[in-house]
Amino acid sequence: MVVGDESSVNDLWRTALGEIELSVGQANFAAWFKGTDLIDIQAGVVHIAVSNIFSKSQFEKKFNSLVLETLQKHRSDILSVRYVIKGSKPRKAASDTSPLMDAVRDHNSKKPSESPQRKTVSSGLNHRYTFNNFIVGSSNDLAYAACQAVAVNPGTKYNPLFLYGGVGLGKTHLAQAVGNEVVRKNPSAKVLYINSETFVNEFLDSIRFKKKGFSTKYREVDVLIVDDMQFIAGKEKTQEEFFHTFNALHQSNKQLIITSDKPPKNIPTLTERMRSRFEWGMTIDIQLPDFETRCAILDTKASESGVSVGRETIEYLANNIKTNIRELEGALNQLLAFAEMRNIEPDLQTAAGLLGNSRATRPSHLTPKQVVDRTAKHFQIEVTDIKSPKRDKYIVVPRQIAMYLLRSELHLSFPRIAGELGRKDHTTAIHSVEKIEKAIKLDFIIREQVAEIKEKLYV
Ligand code: ADP
Ligand code: MG
Repeated sequence: MVVGDESSVNDLWRTALGEIELSVGQANFAAWFKGTDLIDIQAGVVHIAVSNIFSKSQFEKKFNSLVLETLQKHRSDILSVRYVIKGSKPRKAASDTSPLMDAVRDHNSKKPSESPQRKTVSSGLNHRYTFNNFIVGSSNDLAYAACQAVAVNPGTKYNPLFLYGGVGLGKTHLAQAVGNEVVRKNPSAKVLYINSETFVNEFLDSIRFKKKGFSTKYREVDVLIVDDMQFIAGKEKTQEEFFHTFNALHQSNKQLIITSDKPPKNIPTLTERMRSRFEWGMTIDIQLPDFETRCAILDTKASESGVSVGRETIEYLANNIKTNIRELEGALNQLLAFAEMRNIEPDLQTAAGLLGNSRATRPSHLTPKQVVDRTAKHFQIEVTDIKSPKRDKYIVVPRQIAMYLLRSELHLSFPRIAGELGRKDHTTAIHSVEKIEKAIKLDFIIREQVAEIKEKLYV
């Protein structure tokens, strides 16, 4: 039931806004509260119309208690506030107050997929992740290209798209970027992003509480993104359900995007038929970012924060954090916050101080010897062989990989790289590095081998 006529409801909101402006400040007020309306109050629930999905989430996360408390000061019967996106619900009008309209409204609000705005709200997408703010380097360019191709023509070319790679390397970012791009181009497209843990939990709930609609929810979408698939593996019933969802979507040419920390063949608890389904489409990995990419990411993130950070500081951070972009971002943010707090420059010294504290237990320097030894060990050959003039293939490829790693991880000069492997001529080093760079793009096995060695270098 609607309590209060339209004008008293408007007055209430105007009064509340006046108080809110005083408490949040003009800039915040202009950014978030201008243009909002109080639509109605039903059974103690206030409905506020906000302009878009970003405002909605800002209100829910940041301003909800302020709004609620302010309103409660004036009306003790108010219990909670809901934020709706403008246009997603009929504005209150005289005819809307009829029981019939209330019933229609109730019915609509229980069907979140009815309006485009609603769809975006429940899509699980985070607008922060886009192709534009994803830095492309040799470690992720294939994944990036595949994701872009999928975003252009979902459900056609690479289906399913299976993205895998270590923690913090951008799987979620890329998968979400596809979803955001699809919705940007076609606002009525139904995109659903879920973490596989959510899938598991919802599935279990649907069994436990005999909830209906579980399978429909997932089978009605145009693009389904299941992040961190490894959590479904091992849970047989859920896998079974996912298998059917997968088939239903695949058969109707709907796009599936799946991410995982490992390729399907290395997830031991994945059922065989699920594994083979995943291998129908495109399986692609994101590798550890190389030095240049790490620097580019730091440069971009620093300038996004409006701070200029010197080259040597950037290189210092990039040299010290190699295996996780989330950590890399974290270190930069920590540096910027610290510098701002102390009113000092975010320079090399400050960075070294901060990083030194937080990662005392990590080896701070990787040596050329460690790279060569680790590569030899990985291929089960002798270090003396890898450095020898021998031309047997089982030695040549590991030697080229060692050269590549000396370049990508330690940025040694080519003459230095040649020297580390007992070569006099530095053109051999140039040639080898180029060869492996190319092979990594084309040859899955080489890519895996290099990634495995890299991972071992930093544990
Ligand atoms: P994952 O899902 O693989 O664990 P995320 O996608 O969550 O990793 O990435 C971790 C963080 O690093 C995110 O904040 C993401 O935006 C950022 N990130 C990862 N790769 C890149 C990249 N190539 N360019 C810019 N930011 C990146
Ligand atoms: Mg992730």
